[in-house]
Amino acid sequence: MRSADFIIIGGGPGGYEIAADLAADGRKVILIERDRLGGTCLNRGCIPTKCLCASASAAMTVADAASYGVDVPAFTLDYGHAVERAAAVMDQLRGGIEAMLRDVEVIIGEASLKPDKVVVVNGEHLTAGRIIIATGSRPAVPDIPGASLAVTSDGFLSLTDVPRRVAIIGGGVIGLEFASILAAFGREVTVLEFCKEVLPQFDGEIAKRLRTTLSRRGIKFLTSTRVTAIEKGLRIIYEGKRGNDSLDCDLAVMAVGRRPVMPQGIEAAGIELDGRGFIKVDELMETSVGGIYAVGDVNGLCMLAHAASAQARRASGIDVNLDIIPSAVFTSPEAAMVGMTEDRARKKGHELMIGKASFAANGKALAMAESDGTVKIIFDRESGLILGCHIIGPHAADLIAEVAALMFGMTTREELAEKLVHGHPTLSEALQDASRNARPR
Ligand code: NAD
Repeated sequence: MRSADFIIIGGGPGGYEIAADLAADGRKVILIERDRLGGTCLNRGCIPTKCLCASASAAMTVADAASYGVDVPAFTLDYGHAVERAAAVMDQLRGGIEAMLRDVEVIIGEASLKPDKVVVVNGEHLTAGRIIIATGSRPAVPDIPGASLAVTSDGFLSLTDVPRRVAIIGGGVIGLEFASILAAFGREVTVLEFCKEVLPQFDGEIAKRLRTTLSRRGIKFLTSTRVTAIEKGLRIIYEGKRGNDSLDCDLAVMAVGRRPVMPQGIEAAGIELDGRGFIKVDELMETSVGGIYAVGDVNGLCMLAHAASAQARRASGIDVNLDIIPSAVFTSPEAAMVGMTEDRARKKGHELMIGKASFAANGKALAMAESDGTVKIIFDRESGLILGCHIIGPHAADLIAEVAALMFGMTTREELAEKLVHGHPTLSEALQDASRNARPR
């Protein structure tokens, strides 16, 4: 039986980054992937979606060109071309990953686990000091009649054309990103969301503001609405605020969360799952079997690509701070958050100071004609430390990185307000303005 220092199962962000780092450090690493390198993020998630978001943003800018003093004669939108462009970007990035993994033994095949830290792939038995499971997740399909009539995010991202009327089931991150893209391409979009507000994990105020802004772009929202069936035709049956109703559409997209993908033999290997069916791990990402770790979507702690790679660094022995993980929704405008929501901070017993700043008072945002949005920073009143930040507006996903760094460095409200210097005119000034405006609430 061949052995290595590390066997990593899964070539997504939870697997390939740490594989490259460990190999660069002189460790013998075997990475097993059954499909294409890059995982959901590169092949069916973050990257193709962000490419389509960029095309959507270009379409919106051109549609609004006259307001910038740019005269654009009649133009057409080509969704198929946008999808082709996304495929080219994906190929380029995949080439980068392959180059990154030059010192890693990559085996293409289906890995299955056996007892005693043995992994079998393509008939060969392998073992390692540490095994990292990074097998990711797949779209959830709810148990409702006709569910298979809807496409999941995987199916949606492989479409080269999209019909006129689109119903999106689920107003979470995926649902809103797809809605924002399709509205920019002139489709009639309705989002059906079970909870009373979209983005249930986000700060309520920010989620409401994003829904309102997207509504102004023509997207219809049916909240407090549970989809109960899909009929051929295509008709969505739902229980809404006014009882049972239905909605006709040409395409239904299912975006109601994701389920873990388990490698074969997980039970035989003695690895325990939690009550939700994800792999149970401790603080170091170690499973119930010593020496076997699970990172990324498969452990259900935080379903984000960068969380998966951070957890993998933790599993390899690095003391990564997993408490500060920024996240973003790539809608137009973007929304982003890091740390606690206001609700959560209050429930945890913190006395708060909250500071807000509108992009309507930010010179750069006004110059860009993207002044719809706000920054909200939640501070602990006593220590002045940042507990959370929530942004809706231009480049929110990039701006939140500064706040994550400030939280990591334990910067206080006073330091952000008075001692740090921000360039002018930049969007980041809104962060400083929010800290200056902070009041006890
Ligand atoms: P989600 O959990 O974010 O949202 C799913 C939504 O569907 C929820 O709001 C839920 O209330 C609703 N829902 C469930 N059943 C329903 C029903 N029968 N009728 C109507 N609504 C229903 O899940 P997602 O949007 O599918 O995303 C999956 C995961 O991928 C998330 O963890 C997300 O964070 C991650 N992701 C992140 C990004 C990003 O960071 N930009 C992008 C895409 C996905």
